[in-house]
Amino acid sequence: MNEVRVRFAPSPTGYLHIGGARTALYNWLYARKHNGTFVLRIEDTDEERSTRESIDEILDGLKWMGLQWDEGPYFQSERLGTHQQAVRRLLEQGSAYRCFCTKEELEAKRAHAQEHKLDYKYDGTCRNLTPQQIEERTASGQPCVVRFKTPRQDGCIAFEDRVYGRVEKRYDDIEDFVILRSDGKPLYLLSSAIDDMTDRITHVIRGQDGLGNTPRQILILSALGYTPPVYAHISLTLDTKKAKISKRKHGEVVTVAYYKERGFLPWALCNFLLLLGWSNSEDREFFTREELIEAFDLDGIARHNSVFNYTPGDSVNWTDPKAVSMNARYISMLGMDELLPYVAAELQRSGLWQESYAAGKKQWFRDTVELIRTRLHTINDFSTRGRPYFADDFEFEEQAVAKNLKKDERLKTLLPAAAEALAGLAVFDVASIENAVRELCEREAVKPGLIINAIRTACTGQSAGPGLFELVAAIGQERTVARLRAAAGCI
Ligand code: GLU
Repeated sequence: MNEVRVRFAPSPTGYLHIGGARTALYNWLYARKHNGTFVLRIEDTDEERSTRESIDEILDGLKWMGLQWDEGPYFQSERLGTHQQAVRRLLEQGSAYRCFCTKEELEAKRAHAQEHKLDYKYDGTCRNLTPQQIEERTASGQPCVVRFKTPRQDGCIAFEDRVYGRVEKRYDDIEDFVILRSDGKPLYLLSSAIDDMTDRITHVIRGQDGLGNTPRQILILSALGYTPPVYAHISLTLDTKKAKISKRKHGEVVTVAYYKERGFLPWALCNFLLLLGWSNSEDREFFTREELIEAFDLDGIARHNSVFNYTPGDSVNWTDPKAVSMNARYISMLGMDELLPYVAAELQRSGLWQESYAAGKKQWFRDTVELIRTRLHTINDFSTRGRPYFADDFEFEEQAVAKNLKKDERLKTLLPAAAEALAGLAVFDVASIENAVRELCEREAVKPGLIINAIRTACTGQSAGPGLFELVAAIGQERTVARLRAAAGCI
C-alpha cells in the first residue's frame, strides 16, 4: 500500500481557531496511525487577507498542541508557476478553453435567467471557438479567463466520502467553471487541487465546507490523469445557537492561543477537540497520545455538526465546561515530571517563582504541586487559587471568612491556641500536626470541624482545598503560625 500522506492547509487570514485545530488534529492522528506524512501547507494566495502574524500564530498553535508536521510549511503563493503550468496543460489537451465573454455580457445573461426564474449557468459561448477566433481575439488584446470544460454527458460525477458516504453531482449541474482569472491568477479551487497532486496527498481530511468544491477538484485531477485522493469531510463546529464557530463572531475565546493563555494543557485541548466530532465504539473519553493514535480512525468521525457549548460574551464560563473538566482531569493525572515545567512557567509568569523551587526546595515544590493539583482546573489556577502556597499576600474569600472565621466567637481564643500548639512542635509533619490539632479540640471540647475549617481559611483564605493536615505541612510551620495569629487579630 502507498504511504499515507495527509495535509493541513489553513488560509492565514486569522487566528488558528478550534475548528481548524480539530482538522489539524485529525490529520495528524491519521498520519501517525499509519506511519504516514503530515504535510503543512499555507494557502496564502489571498494576498489582501493573508498576514505574517496569522502564519506565526498557526505555526505556534500547532507546535504548542504537539501537532508537529513532517513536511513544509509549503506556501501556496510560491507555486504560482505550477498552477499556471497545469492550466496550460489543460488548455493544450482540450480540457479547458479561453473565454472572452465580458463581465457585462455575463451579467446580462444572469439577469435574463433571473427574470425567467431559471438557474444561471455559463452557457458555453466560448467553448467551441476556433483556433483562429482565439488568435484574433488574443491579438486584439481582448482579456480572457480560462474555464474548465466540464464533460457534456449524462449522469453524475460521484465519489465516496469517508464520512458522508456516496456524494453525487450531475455533470449538468456543473458549469464550465473558471480556473484562471484574466490577470493570470489561478482560482483557489484549482490551486488547492494541484497542490494536493504536487504534495502527493492520499487523504484529504478537511472541513465540510470543502465538500462543494470536491466534484470540480476531482474533475481537474482526473483530467490531468491523476487519481484523486480519498476525501473525508469533517462536520462543522457550532455554538449553542447553531452559528458556525468563527473568530469574527466569537472573538479570541475560540482561538487556540486563548486556551494556551488560560492555562490549558495542550493534550487536554486536543482530547476535548477530538470528541467534538469523533467517538469510538467504546464511548471512551480520555486517551493518552499513544492510545489515541491507536484508536483513531476515520469511521468514528460524526456526520452531524458538533456543538461547542459556549455562549459568546460569557466571561465566567468562558468555554465549554467539558473542556475545563477535561483539563482539570489532565492536571491531576499527568506525570509530575511533565506537569512541573508548566507550573514553573506559570509561577514565573506571575512573579511567584523562587529559584529555590529548582534547588533546595525542589522536593517541597513537587509535593506541594502534587497536593494542590487535584482541585485546580487550569495551569493558571496554580498562581491564583494556589497563590497562598507560594506567596504570603493572598486574598480572603468573603464567604469563607464569614463562615469559618467570624461565625464563632470561640475562635478568638482557639486560633491563638492552635498557633501555640503548632509552634511548639519539634517535628512539623502531617502526623504531628494532626495530633496537635486533635489534642487541642479535646482539651477545649470543640468539634474538630470548627478548628479545621478556621485553620484552612486562616492559612489560605479559602473554604475548600486539600486535606487540612497536608495543607498545613505544605504551608510550613513558620508561615502557618504567623497566619493563624494574624487571623485571630482580625476576628
Ligand atoms: N485553505 C482552506 C481553509 O483554510 C482549506 C481547504 C482545504 O483543506 O482543502 O479553509
